[in-house]
Amino acid sequence: MNLNPFAIGIHGGCGTLEEERLNPQQWALVRAALHASLLAGWRVLRDGGPALDAVEAAVVVMEDSEHFNAGHGAALTSAGDHELDAALMDGRDARAGAVCAARTIRNPIRAARAVMEHSDCVLLCGSAADAFAARCGLAGVPNSYFTTERRRAALAAVQEHARAGTSAQASESDRHGTVGAVARDQAGNLAAATSTGGFNDKAPGRIGDTPIIGAGTYASNGVCAVSCTGRGEIFMREVVAHEVAARLRYAGQTLDEATRAMVFDVLAGYDIGAGMVAIDAAGTIVTPYNTTGMARGWIGSDGVAFVATHGTVHRIEAA
Ligand code: ASP
Repeated sequence: MNLNPFAIGIHGGCGTLEEERLNPQQWALVRAALHASLLAGWRVLRDGGPALDAVEAAVVVMEDSEHFNAGHGAALTSAGDHELDAALMDGRDARAGAVCAARTIRNPIRAARAVMEHSDCVLLCGSAADAFAARCGLAGVPNSYFTTERRRAALAAVQEHARAGTSAQASESDRHGTVGAVARDQAGNLAAATSTGGFNDKAPGRIGDTPIIGAGTYASNGVCAVSCTGRGEIFMREVVAHEVAARLRYAGQTLDEATRAMVFDVLAGYDIGAGMVAIDAAGTIVTPYNTTGMARGWIGSDGVAFVATHGTVHRIEAA
């Protein structure tokens, strides 16, 4: 869909709950959270703000929502606590910031922004990231703030499958998820942001693709912005987000061709859940995924929003 002159697209991870695990009212709440995220970013763009501010604003809303695996509601490590990864990238100048294995930052995406703007690093890890965020005046929380009953139950289910040797049968939604946003602003600038709790039952210290620029998150003006979701180890090995941009830049592929080639061709060989949201220089947004569902949404300058978790796309008229 092409949504000139400004647009934002989001995903809430390709580890979406199977449709039958929530009732229609509960799914409506998930879609409402997606819509709130879209509107937060859209208002920034409507008011002439930069794409970078828009993607950060959209991701903050999903980090604060219990429905997604990022911030409050994040996945748990095998030790039963949380280590969060986040990154953003500004397509104007290839500046980027990221944090990984953060434990006490309420909104890791804000910390990623602070790393970009107030340090000479791109990626800060663990307690150094937590301390840096605190020094920047960002809100801190106890690690337990991120825990929800759903994630505890998911961790128990994943660990039970591991004990029984049936890990491949664990539900995609119990295993992982992520949130992300891409945007084009009125000046034509692109930006991407991604935030995650990673995989449930992940080893302490494990870092996924999300905070690795070029793997899970990438933006370059005139080309595209990409935010990925799926088995991070494979996204790192295939440098997926940058590969999408390279296909546009050097192979002349369209955004649709490039993203579909990655999800349904390159990544298909690994037998993993995979998805992404991406936007090109013209404001075209795509959301390919290979799982049964991926929370996602997009909105253009007319303010008409589209949100979905599985096959059905819901149109929400502008207020
Ligand atoms: N990419 C994330 C990670 O590997 C997980 C996900 O997107 O589902 O940490």
